[in-house]
Amino acid sequence: MVFGEGADIYRSLGVNSAIVASGSTTLYGGSKLRPEVLDAMEKASATMVNMDDLNVAAGKVIAEVTGAEAGLVTSGSAGGLVLQAAAVMAGNDPARMVRLPNADGMKNEIIMHRSQRFPYDQCYTATGATIVDIGDGRRCHPWELEAAINENTAAIAYLFSGFVSRRAIPFEQVVEIAHANDVPVIVDAASYLPPRANLTRFIEAGADMVQFSGGKAIRGPQGTGVLAGRADLIEAAYANASPHQFIGRGMKVAKEEIIGLVEAIRIFADEDEEAENRRYAEMCGQVVDALIEMPGLEVTVEHDEWDYLTPIAILRFTRDWRGPSRDQVRDTLASGDPPIYLHDIHNPDELGVDPFNLDEQELQIVIDRLRETLLNG
Ligand SMILES: *Cc1c(COP(=O)(O)O)cnc(C)c1O
Repeated sequence: MVFGEGADIYRSLGVNSAIVASGSTTLYGGSKLRPEVLDAMEKASATMVNMDDLNVAAGKVIAEVTGAEAGLVTSGSAGGLVLQAAAVMAGNDPARMVRLPNADGMKNEIIMHRSQRFPYDQCYTATGATIVDIGDGRRCHPWELEAAINENTAAIAYLFSGFVSRRAIPFEQVVEIAHANDVPVIVDAASYLPPRANLTRFIEAGADMVQFSGGKAIRGPQGTGVLAGRADLIEAAYANASPHQFIGRGMKVAKEEIIGLVEAIRIFADEDEEAENRRYAEMCGQVVDALIEMPGLEVTVEHDEWDYLTPIAILRFTRDWRGPSRDQVRDTLASGDPPIYLHDIHNPDELGVDPFNLDEQELQIVIDRLRETLLNG
């Protein structure tokens, strides 16, 4: 909602609230929090609790939802990746934990496909880990993984995300090779939800730890994350985390955030995914209907199992398009009042309208502003 009390609060600081049609984007505020979550957080916030007890109990809820042995609420996925790396290198040995990011003498190499290197891999190296690349960026053979494993290998990291190369060694095969060598596989699937089946899928396939974001599709507190996995590794991750005074101490998660995440993931797991997708598809359909007659612009609804995990309306600027350029359209909407942020990450000739963070009123504003800008520049 760009109007009303929420907008007034931001305006009192001189900040414009925005309409976010880019999906769940941290730069633009992440996700709209579930009202039930805020209610639980408010109640929990004024009541004190032992954080070890709370973290263990919240971890059990994560374990139930993911089918893993154990779980932990982390400070976003980024914070969780740091804890993954700390856990596989230092375990829960305080003599090692206290030395990080000096990881000399520990297993300190994390193997990654070159095609899966990404801006968040600094979360791994922040602990002192070194990344060992395999493959040439386009493809990777199983023998390259075998050859990279040595006595310093702490883990193999694997990324599940939209628009990531599918030419990595298939996950099941990575797990097989890793486990034959007693090496854990740590997964970043931060934004690979829904489908809700992914909550259990990677654990079932043998992942030793999996990370999801709590503040994206789950719509929990924006600063939270969900780490699930093997009991000994989760115990080690938590030993390295706040409130304990080791490398994860700077990634504190507050009591009410933990309660909020627990509430959010329970609701998320039980939601009717087909109904949700139908609603998103219907909203995308409104975009298609409004723009379909513009010559040179192709407007479609995309939804697949790899890249667009929920329905999104895609505008493709073809060679026959005579109006303002794709970048001009994006920038005009982003600099308007209220600013509208479109999905612009993947293809240089495409813009997307992702309904995830839009209500009907906001969608209508996006459609009107898009039509006006496409027609008049
Ligand atoms: C969003 C994202 C992260 C970071 O998640 P936060 O919860 O914002 O910390 C890490 N990895 C991938 C692949 C992501 O999409």
